[in-house]
Amino acid sequence: MRLFFPLSCLLLLCACEGEPETGNQADLLVFNAKIWTGVDCPGVEIAAAEDYCATAMIIGQGGRVLSVGNDTTAWSSQIDKNTERLNADGQFVMPGFVEGHAHFSGLGSSLRNLNFLRSKNWDEIVAMVAERAEDTPEGDWISGRGWHQEKWDKPHDHSVGGYPIHDELSRLTQEHPVILRHASGHGLFANAKAMEIAGVSRETPDPRGGRVLRDASGDPTGVFEERAMDLITDSYQNWIQTMTPESRKEEWLLGIEAAQEECLRKGVTSFQDAGTKFREVDWYKELDETDQLRLNLWVMLRHSYEEMEGNMDGLPHYGKNFTCAAIKTELDGALGSYGAWLIEPYFDNPGFVGQNTTLVETVDSIAQLAKKHNMQLCVHAIGDKANQETLNVMAKYVKPEDDHRWRIEHSQHLAVEDIPRFGEMGVIASMQGIHCTSDALFAENRLGTERAASGAYPWRSLLDAGAVIVNGTDAPVEDVDPIESFYASVTRKRADGKATFFPEQSMTRVEGLHSYTGAAAYGAFQEDRLGTLAPMMQADFILLSKNLLSCQDEEIMDTEVLGTYVAGKKAF
Ligand SMILES: [Zn+2]
Repeated sequence: MRLFFPLSCLLLLCACEGEPETGNQADLLVFNAKIWTGVDCPGVEIAAAEDYCATAMIIGQGGRVLSVGNDTTAWSSQIDKNTERLNADGQFVMPGFVEGHAHFSGLGSSLRNLNFLRSKNWDEIVAMVAERAEDTPEGDWISGRGWHQEKWDKPHDHSVGGYPIHDELSRLTQEHPVILRHASGHGLFANAKAMEIAGVSRETPDPRGGRVLRDASGDPTGVFEERAMDLITDSYQNWIQTMTPESRKEEWLLGIEAAQEECLRKGVTSFQDAGTKFREVDWYKELDETDQLRLNLWVMLRHSYEEMEGNMDGLPHYGKNFTCAAIKTELDGALGSYGAWLIEPYFDNPGFVGQNTTLVETVDSIAQLAKKHNMQLCVHAIGDKANQETLNVMAKYVKPEDDHRWRIEHSQHLAVEDIPRFGEMGVIASMQGIHCTSDALFAENRLGTERAASGAYPWRSLLDAGAVIVNGTDAPVEDVDPIESFYASVTRKRADGKATFFPEQSMTRVEGLHSYTGAAAYGAFQEDRLGTLAPMMQADFILLSKNLLSCQDEEIMDTEVLGTYVAGKKAF
């Protein structure tokens, strides 16, 4: 009797207490987990062999975290028969990854078009395009992306400036214009049919900020760098315009669905898009209003100054899962294609300092526009000169004490004297771990050892100088896989073992995870809702097969995403 009495009391108590406070009831209990919450774990030694802050958490209505801890009995009044239970089997649980800079619809279309990220050489690519041509109606464009000549297992025997020549590709695709974008997004390859439609010949001059590659006799080889890409992409866009608006939107939507699926499968629960058009903003709003966005999407608007000026009604926009509160512009191109704008010339291209793709005055006007409309400014800058000019422009319009969170996208190669300016000015360095190891095969050739050692992907120096680093992949430039980028961030080693790039600039494990969760959310003013697993935060979390804080370096790449939850609901 003595035992029975208190139990019935307890049951009575639960019923009484539970009723008026339904908002406190747990929809989901996660237990038997090793949880890294993303916030400081009091008393937990992060360097210990088994690192986690808590073993359990409860999630309530609206998909918010109610409590995180070790003692589920403390929550007995909040857990009842309706509470779903998730046994994590001792696996590592952490906040979902926040992809800090990538291209959502670009990722979608790369999943639907030819993708050469894993192609071993040019012959393989030509064969893939020729095969696609067989199933494509005559005259339709064939599009693909992801090739990178410096990552092939053998250089092409028929090449100019390190790039293949279009002859073989053109011979196999005589009835189809072909456009194949470089992995960096800063160059493309066109076949003869595409060049014919675009009206490109040996007489075509190089446009400002771009280069048409030519053979010894002056004929275009098929490679178009930076602004010269417009010659081909304009023709491609003209063809796209011939489709009905409905079929264009349908194709876009199929890409978005594919991108969502791919992200959730890889543990990405938030995505920061680095270049959205007005039309897409409208489409994303529609998807958000009809609850079709399965992850959080935050986008940077990207248009010319003239297109944006006077057309900013309704911006910034804060929806449920969709936010547009930033403007993107760019000052230079990419390092691989000699498009990064450098202070001193390229080490392997003497006399050439890269491309300044947008006038500094134009970026200045866009900065004023961002300030006027209370939007974050995000400037693509890769070379040290581009970064310096960007910091100079930003310094004109934001004071360090303002909470502006303006960002430099990539912040890749920095003059040593500019590194402290990020922390001092509160400018966010939006960098991609995977770019470092991906570029490791050529970055030192381009920059020379001295500049590569002191200012290339200088994460350690930036963090030590108080900068906030946001991580990401720039997908579809790279695979959207956060594990691969995390591995690069904490080891600076290529996954294929071919190179290690100045490992003294590595992030620690915690810094690496933070750059992919809380810091990335901070980079979008979303840290009050996303990026950590604390009470009241949105319950975006993932289950992983390895403990990313304590597993061996060599084990990181074997990590599998076992489950992805967005707002407490299973999404993968
Ligand atoms: Zn990008």
